[in-house]
Amino acid sequence: MSRKLDRRNWLKQSLTASASLLAGNTLAADVKNFNISKKKKPVAVVAGAGVMGSWTAYFLLKAGYDVTLCDPWGAGNPHASSGGETRLIRYLYGKNEIYFNLAKRSMELWKQEQKAIGKKLFYQNGMLIFSEMPVYDYAEESKALYEANGFKLDKIPAEELKKQYPFIDTDDLNHAIYDKEAGFLLAAESCKQVASSIEQNGGAFKYASVKPGKIEGGKMKEVILPDGTKLNADVFVFANGPWLAKLFPEVLDGKLMVTRQPLFFFSPPKEFAANLKQPFPVWMNRDKANQERSYGVYDPVLDGFKFAYTQLEIREFDPEYDPRIAQQSEIEHARYLMEKRFTFMRNAPLLFSKVCQHTDTADKNFILDQHPECGNVWLMGGGSGHAFKHGPALGELATQQITTSANPIDDFSIKRLATLNSFTKNHK
Ligand SMILES: Cc1cc2nc3c(=O)[nH]c(=O)nc-3n(C[C@H](O)[C@H](O)[C@H](O)COP(=O)(O)OP(=O)(O)OC[C@H]3O[C@@H](n4cnc5c(N)ncnc54)[C@H](O)[C@@H]3O)c2cc1C
Repeated sequence: MSRKLDRRNWLKQSLTASASLLAGNTLAADVKNFNISKKKKPVAVVAGAGVMGSWTAYFLLKAGYDVTLCDPWGAGNPHASSGGETRLIRYLYGKNEIYFNLAKRSMELWKQEQKAIGKKLFYQNGMLIFSEMPVYDYAEESKALYEANGFKLDKIPAEELKKQYPFIDTDDLNHAIYDKEAGFLLAAESCKQVASSIEQNGGAFKYASVKPGKIEGGKMKEVILPDGTKLNADVFVFANGPWLAKLFPEVLDGKLMVTRQPLFFFSPPKEFAANLKQPFPVWMNRDKANQERSYGVYDPVLDGFKFAYTQLEIREFDPEYDPRIAQQSEIEHARYLMEKRFTFMRNAPLLFSKVCQHTDTADKNFILDQHPECGNVWLMGGGSGHAFKHGPALGELATQQITTSANPIDDFSIKRLATLNSFTKNHK
């Protein structure tokens, strides 16, 4: 890979690299001013226009690359994990500073992007975590990082919660944690907007699936499109979500597990939206045993309650061929959990349900690293059910790593996958 990359304005500001990001410093990138150079630019092909690929293409473009983003089904498509209506964003990651800082940086970038394009992508509605347990350890552990960064996590006893939110059923609750910073993002829409920003600023988008070319002498020269066209580039980024291990079995076979995740959208009573006195917070529920986790969003665009619960039984999923239809028993269980917390949703009609997928690594940390045998190929993925919120900061970090050849963050390295024997059920 060429080391003589064009690194002017944007990159100068970014050379503090991943160490700085992970220490909590933000990078002074101005997302409005793309760095369009007249000199010969280095060329990058990014395969996959989910949240990781789109934002990486975006930052590579800003760093002065000639960028082509490819996806056979378009940005934020319904096959992709990033293809849903909404995704939660929160800083709550216990003591984990890496994710706290990635989420915090991403929040800034989401806000900047929505300002730049003049379209709402982020709803800072706050988040309520309903705890049936007297102590929810993870939230308690998260407090130190919140406080150190000037944020708060408020503990609201169940009786007080009932006064503040009379429509929440609190009988089985001990307390709730309120996080003012959190909220939700428009998912597919955000990916489409980022892809569109890329095109408007001189990047290209191709509706095509990309096949990795041969690796020779530690380098990939080209990738191949279905019609036989070859795309040459200095740098290739593969951010293919659930397809990543299929494209690079020699590196990732057995290292990623794609699992089935059903989602349900219920229709609230007609008068619900009109009677809302404040934006409805996103919510998570933690049961007494801290086992069954459910979460949801009131989506004002759909006027629908999105509801999901973590599957206790893991079911592997093929993103191309498996049906994306929820089972009746799953719909009933979702309804049971939803009505337990929101009595006013009793008998609410199901608007629709769908099945998406997580792409888990064994430790639920992401992958952002160079191909072990190929210096100009980067692999990104292993979203593990929590990557959407981090998309912008991951794209920025990927670009820093590509342009400076910085070592990967250990937790995101391919090397660490070799040391993991089994897939954790714990969530990040
Ligand atoms: C139900 C559900 C709820 C979730 N909730 C949250 C949440 O609340 N908050 C959160 O932060 N995260 C959440 N996540 C996780 C988050 O959505 C994912 O981690 C994230 O979207 C993964 O993004 P990605 O870019 O890695 O993969 P994807 O979004 O899957 O993108 C991969 C892209 O690669 C393309 N592709 C595949 N093969 C090729 C090829 N050969 N050439 C070119 N392109 C190709 C695909 O079409 C796809 O667009 C949730 C996930 C699910 C499924």
